Amino acid sequence: MNQLRRAFLRCSFCRKPNSKVAKLIAGRRGYICDVCVASCNKILEATPPGFAGWETLTDEQILDALLPAERTVEAVRAVLQEQIDVLRKRGVSWEAIGRALQISRQAAWERFS
Ligand SMILES: [Zn+2]
Repeated sequence: MNQLRRAFLRCSFCRKPNSKVAKLIAGRRGYICDVCVASCNKILEATPPGFAGWETLTDEQILDALLPAERTVEAVRAVLQEQIDVLRKRGVSWEAIGRALQISRQAAWERFS
């Protein structure tokens, strides 16, 4: 019974099932996986303490935040690319990948091939 319930747990953020992540942390109303925790940490590192919105920061502060933000985007993109590479090696079509990403087959191919 417990094992059956565990089989259906998934990250509330990226929707990956527990079988596809290294760690899944339970909260009161959801779950978060190790990859999403790492992404959140990078976003927090890029956000100054007491953050009250980008409009409240100086040009210099926003300029300082650009590189960490870009690195976060790149890290998340690398995970996405790795997932797609595995699917492509397994022979999964661009059509199916596009459908999963809610973009066209052509758009999926252009972005990830
Ligand atoms: Zn996740």
